[in-house]
Amino acid sequence: MEFCPNCGKMLMPDKGKIKCRCGYEKSLKKEDLEEQYHMEGETNPEAKVIVTDRNNVALPTTTITCYKCGGTKGYWWTVQTRSADEAPTNFIRCANCGNTWRSSN
Ligand SMILES: [Zn+2]
Ligand SMILES: [Zn+2]
Repeated sequence: MEFCPNCGKMLMPDKGKIKCRCGYEKSLKKEDLEEQYHMEGETNPEAKVIVTDRNNVALPTTTITCYKCGGTKGYWWTVQTRSADEAPTNFIRCANCGNTWRSSN
């Protein structure tokens, strides 16, 4: 709220300006207008959620023969089991049916 610098009366908003009965008028600044006509219901952009599906992690592929479905494409990865002294175990998962087994080598 502002008061007239000439007569000290309260200034009245009128079409983007504030006016006094004595004739004084002042243009409202953009910031004032935005504050006065604060927009409600602003649309917040939806927060983007990145879903990481562990099953979709890119694993190296290899040619296999699935004993369940006969599929020939598989993924493989290595797991170090128990102690570091033991050789790591290779696992293979069939890309077709998801069957997982230990690699023979
Ligand atoms: Zn005035
Ligand atoms: Zn399979």
